[in-house]
Amino acid sequence: MEGGVRVGIIGGGITGLTVAYYLARKGCSVTLFEKEPELGGQVRTVSVGGERVEGFYHHIFAGDTNLIGMTEELGLSSDLEWLPSRVGYFSEGRAYPFSTPLDLLRFKPLSLYDRLRVGMTSLRLQRRTHWRDLAEVTASEWLPPRTGGKGYRVIFDPLLRGKFGDYAGDISMAWLWSRFRVRLGSRGRAMQRERLGYLRGSFHRLVEALAEAIREMGGNIFVDNPVRRLAIQGDRIGEVELRDMSLSFDAVVATVSSPTFLSLVAGVPDDYRRKLEATPYLSALCLVLALSRQFMPFYWLNTGGAMPFVAVVEHTNLVPAERYSGKHLLYISNYMTPDSQLTGINAAGLLEHYLPHLRQISLEFDPAWVEEYHLFRECAAQPVVNTGYEDRMPGLRTPIDGLYLANTAQIYPEDRGMNYSVRLGLKVSGMVLEAWKGDQ
Ligand SMILES: Cc1cc2nc3c(=O)[nH]c(=O)nc-3n(C[C@H](O)[C@H](O)[C@H](O)COP(=O)(O)OP(=O)(O)OC[C@H]3O[C@@H](n4cnc5c(N)ncnc54)[C@H](O)[C@@H]3O)c2cc1C
Repeated sequence: MEGGVRVGIIGGGITGLTVAYYLARKGCSVTLFEKEPELGGQVRTVSVGGERVEGFYHHIFAGDTNLIGMTEELGLSSDLEWLPSRVGYFSEGRAYPFSTPLDLLRFKPLSLYDRLRVGMTSLRLQRRTHWRDLAEVTASEWLPPRTGGKGYRVIFDPLLRGKFGDYAGDISMAWLWSRFRVRLGSRGRAMQRERLGYLRGSFHRLVEALAEAIREMGGNIFVDNPVRRLAIQGDRIGEVELRDMSLSFDAVVATVSSPTFLSLVAGVPDDYRRKLEATPYLSALCLVLALSRQFMPFYWLNTGGAMPFVAVVEHTNLVPAERYSGKHLLYISNYMTPDSQLTGINAAGLLEHYLPHLRQISLEFDPAWVEEYHLFRECAAQPVVNTGYEDRMPGLRTPIDGLYLANTAQIYPEDRGMNYSVRLGLKVSGMVLEAWKGDQ
């Protein structure tokens, strides 16, 4: 019945692939265009020691039900592993374990009273099921009276600054609540150490499985094929213009970032344009080091604002190093505004800039441990989720008939993540089908 609908999809990340997969399953004729030579978008990978690994660290939480469901559907669930993670927090010149309530009770940079206040507030946030009353208040207003000024300054402010830079003071408490909430499910009832999900062989296997299923159902996927322009005819989507051809579809779903969408479509109606322009993004810069030795005892270490990067993530403290021929994989993660002095820096320069700080974390660390390194950048990595976000969020159905937009800036109040990209992909696909049925 939906066999007659021809849908063009722009972007071969998790959202675009989900849309193509779901609509192909419903009998639509789907064609997906990806600008890069490889599919995956933010889940792109690099090969280290003969095994693929994400260029940006990736794990999932127990509550990521849409993504878990997708892995089941594609026959990958036996390779989805749930592994214990150890978190650390760097403060006053040393790394403290920061995984369990007991770790917080032993966290010396805060007084016992402040530790208890931070602990109680965190627990209440994890157990809270409603968030709408938090949407209009910033985390920087809501937290200090509850955690104590020092608790906020030592723990939360560096986390928000590390991720959002100068926007840290604007971030909605609803967004931060969702970060607490998501972790509860990964701990279990007794609040034991968190377990995180990882797909053996990298999440790129999910990308490959989706692409294979789409092709098997007769869908077309074109990589290395950027969409140059989306033409509008009257108030309807016109042709999709590629390097050397133009194609027409009944519906087009763009899964690119909001700035990219604006660069592709001339004449976006003002109201919608203003919404797209209202959300700034931070870019991500991730340096992946393959080391000959283990760097630290943690999977994830927050640097607490003490270093020029927000976190170091030792992937091989979650997944065994043997899978990468014994190499230990360390991500050094950073988020930046476009005016950051690190914009445009190359991998060697960035490594040089970071090396002295790595020594602060691990006294034994020797630069000679670095066997290879790779730099990954993503311009539209993190939308800035400030107060009143929901009202400014652009709708999935654009004012241009037949044109849809689904990207990470439309995920709220949760933080962007693969699970929500799957959820978004399913939702926008449902809207495409509904509109088609309505037109018949
Ligand atoms: C540093 C970092 C760490 C992360 N860690 C996690 C994690 O631990 N767990 C988790 O679940 N999620 C994580 N994420 C988030 C997750 O990767 C993203 O939410 C998800 O992959 C977004 O998918 P998407 O398809 O919406 O967007 P994208 O992956 O950005 O896909 C958009 C695609 O559109 C393509 N495109 C752009 N312009 C054009 C054009 N003109 N023509 C054709 N194609 C075009 C791009 O090349 C890209 O492939 C992380 C992200 C980052 C940056």
